[in-house]
Amino acid sequence: MRVDLEIVNATIVSPQGRFRGTIAVSEGRIAGLFEEPSGNAAHVIDAEGLFALPGMVDQHVHFMDPGDTTREDFIYGSSAAAVGGVTTVIEHTHSNPVLTADDLREKREYLSDRSVIDFGLMAHVFPDTLEHVPSLWNEGIAMFKAFTCTTHGVPGLLPDDLLRLFRSLSDLGARALVHCEDEFITEDNEERLRAALREDYGVIPEWRSTEAELVAVNTVALLSRLTGAKITVAHASHPEVIDLVRRERELDARLSIESCPQYFYLDSDDVREHGPTRKFTPPARDKPAGELMWERLAKEEVDLISTDHAPSTLDQKLGSNIWDCPFGLPGVETTLTMLLNATNEQKITLERVVQVYSEMPARLLGLYPRKGTIHPGSDADVVLVDAQKEHVLENEDIVSKAGWTPFAGCRVKGRPVMTILRGTVVAEDRKVVAEPGGGLFITPGRPEVRARGM
Ligand SMILES: [Zn+2]
Repeated sequence: MRVDLEIVNATIVSPQGRFRGTIAVSEGRIAGLFEEPSGNAAHVIDAEGLFALPGMVDQHVHFMDPGDTTREDFIYGSSAAAVGGVTTVIEHTHSNPVLTADDLREKREYLSDRSVIDFGLMAHVFPDTLEHVPSLWNEGIAMFKAFTCTTHGVPGLLPDDLLRLFRSLSDLGARALVHCEDEFITEDNEERLRAALREDYGVIPEWRSTEAELVAVNTVALLSRLTGAKITVAHASHPEVIDLVRRERELDARLSIESCPQYFYLDSDDVREHGPTRKFTPPARDKPAGELMWERLAKEEVDLISTDHAPSTLDQKLGSNIWDCPFGLPGVETTLTMLLNATNEQKITLERVVQVYSEMPARLLGLYPRKGTIHPGSDADVVLVDAQKEHVLENEDIVSKAGWTPFAGCRVKGRPVMTILRGTVVAEDRKVVAEPGGGLFITPGRPEVRARGM
């Protein structure tokens, strides 16, 4: 066997533990894991002092391409991801959604020379596009995105539409990522706050209340159980959301819980103070809730982490009032760094980082074991991290078109130093070293369909 690359002296991390050894790569795949180097590889990377993790799989990013490319595009977004240690993303763009199989073919073709890393695509489901779900699935969509409330110009699905969607998902064995905030509660809050002429930053947590999230999660969880549909609750913001999902899961609902760094590292005081640059929804909750979120993450009650990378430039964020400025944060290049920092704060282990930001998303999407693990036969997607590296996050280092991070000024410990996609180095020392177009469109595997009601 010809060995193209060996990563030597690495401490290789999986959810089960870590061991020191050599990763041999042949034709873009992991050829084997060995205690000692073979000595005859064409290329050698010395990872002394570094941890080798499987490339991160970020299942929730918005690269706005095609779409509002003043905010982000696929070249910048995938470059930011590569620098951040992410080798696979699942992308969807609200302003230019994939709604039909034709849209998917068109977007896939358009992106064929625009990504530095591997990518799958998510389709939106609108109330009047439900009939396209089977053809999108057959065409290779990774997952479906649905909203329970009209947000970012995306029409929400009320329970009758959700029920129809979930039945369809269950028949296909497909999964949806559902943004859960109740339409009527958020609408009522908004009317009240606007009637009071409120424009202070405190409108965000009051408008997008925890109650609104809980009511929507309750409906989605129940409908998941009744239909057998596989649902991932998007960006769970509060421990009560997790409790609710876990109760339904005990009753056999097929639910997973996604959360994002902003629900751990930011809180409602930050939102009240900074407004637009902390405007995302559901919003960060109060500090005690954030502390409990860390405990839930450590206790394996959060299934996966993604970033919900939805960047705007600072000009776009600060160019209007709190009601009109765009929702969303940049994050795809800082998420792994923030998780590594959490390992140094003893909040979670490195093994758990691999589990929640690589293995679990890969498993839930049917990408495992091609992605999400360092194992013979898997794609050679590896991120080398220096877990001890102390540094200060700065806006000027940000690769995303956003050009800023909510974590600017934070002194953190740990960072990715090299990202390898299918055996090729795509980012090194915070610089992208690969051309766009090397990233491939990936169609997740189709897990066996479970009959409805089982
Ligand atoms: Zn999102």
